[in-house]
Amino acid sequence: MQADGLIERLPPPLLKLIVTAGRLADKSGIKVYLVGGIVRDLMLGRPPVDIDIMAEGDAVRLARQMAQEPGARLTVHSAFGTASIKIDGFGIDLATCRSEDYMYPGALPRVRAGGIRDDLQRRDFTINAMAVCINTSNRGELTDLFGGRQDLAEGLVRVLHNKSFQDDATRMMRAVRYEQRLGFKLENSTSKLLKRSLDMLDTISGDRLKNEFVLWLNESRPEKILRRAGRLGVLGKLHPALKWDLPMSTAFRRAASGGGTTMSRLYFCLLVYNLDEEELYELLGRLNLTGSRLDLLSHQSLELKGKCGELDRLVIKRSALYFTLREYDTTAIEANRYYAKAPNLRRNLGLYLDRLRHIKTSLGGNELLKLGVKEGPKLGTILKKLLGARLDGAAQSKCDEVRLARRLAGI
Ligand code: ATP
Repeated sequence: MQADGLIERLPPPLLKLIVTAGRLADKSGIKVYLVGGIVRDLMLGRPPVDIDIMAEGDAVRLARQMAQEPGARLTVHSAFGTASIKIDGFGIDLATCRSEDYMYPGALPRVRAGGIRDDLQRRDFTINAMAVCINTSNRGELTDLFGGRQDLAEGLVRVLHNKSFQDDATRMMRAVRYEQRLGFKLENSTSKLLKRSLDMLDTISGDRLKNEFVLWLNESRPEKILRRAGRLGVLGKLHPALKWDLPMSTAFRRAASGGGTTMSRLYFCLLVYNLDEEELYELLGRLNLTGSRLDLLSHQSLELKGKCGELDRLVIKRSALYFTLREYDTTAIEANRYYAKAPNLRRNLGLYLDRLRHIKTSLGGNELLKLGVKEGPKLGTILKKLLGARLDGAAQSKCDEVRLARRLAGI
């Protein structure tokens, strides 16, 4: 089967390198293919991100030859027999075709060298299991053993065989991710297999779950994935207390339009916002996130949630608001802002995030020393009071600050 014009959809610098790779492979007498996500995305007309190349032969040798091209930068991962090339902002990963089998559910696969057919058989979904040959004489020849092209046309995510989720339960998380990203549907029997295989998620290590979880959060619409994962029971398998509900949906919608400092971290805080301390502790442990940045931020977010009652006031001194919230990372405050139902609370958190946290005094420590303030704890106290006066409008200029600093220092 031919996939005419597919490779030609690559941006020019990539296309040039791929054509070169085909020529080099011809000379070495090996077959080389584009595989997986790049074939899927080219067929869908989506912009290419990274490229995977599989060689029925020595992939590292081929990569070394390709890297002679101008602008190409090579990294060899000797331990894995793989290589990566960076060119023009794109990444190309090269590996040798392999076959895999699983000793037991959730185990990492046993890997052996193989041909392109073996390589496609170990993959997750039909839409990710196609290969396009790039050798000069066979360029554009499509290997589609499982009807991936048809499934792409029909918008279906389908596993390759009935044991797929048992072999690797992270595929359930991947299935939901592709389904929601591409606006597809889980094919009927795949959906049934998934629901029947949920317990297999227990066989997956924390690190692997974490990786897939982070991929969810880095998608452009993670709320769609989380909602769907909630309905399918995948979310509840990660922790029984994780539920997708209307307030969460509202918070995600607000966050998506309001933005945040680091969106994936904010989404994590929103997702765990309704867990109690113990549930959060268990979830972080399960995802091997204990001690991570997400651990810190989600704990801060819950701690601040406990203080929100104090901040839900029509009239609040700006300095008091500032010094309470200064203790928290912006992401933890954003999470509380997007969940806040009370208008005063929402306004106060927004006031801090949008304005107060950017306010600075004109005088710094050095200026205070020049004014004659002695070094020591008092200097810190004066700086804090100057900032408070700035926030509350009691000092509006550098002159005001100088006057206030002198008065506070008694000079
Ligand atoms: P994207 O990066 O757009 O999410 P991708 O298809 O490039 O999609 P990767 O995670 O980079 O995804 O994986 C590359 C390919 O490796 C996939 O297309 C798929 O064929 C295969 N693959 C990845 N993870 C698994 C898995 N758990 N089981 C089977 N095959 C997998």
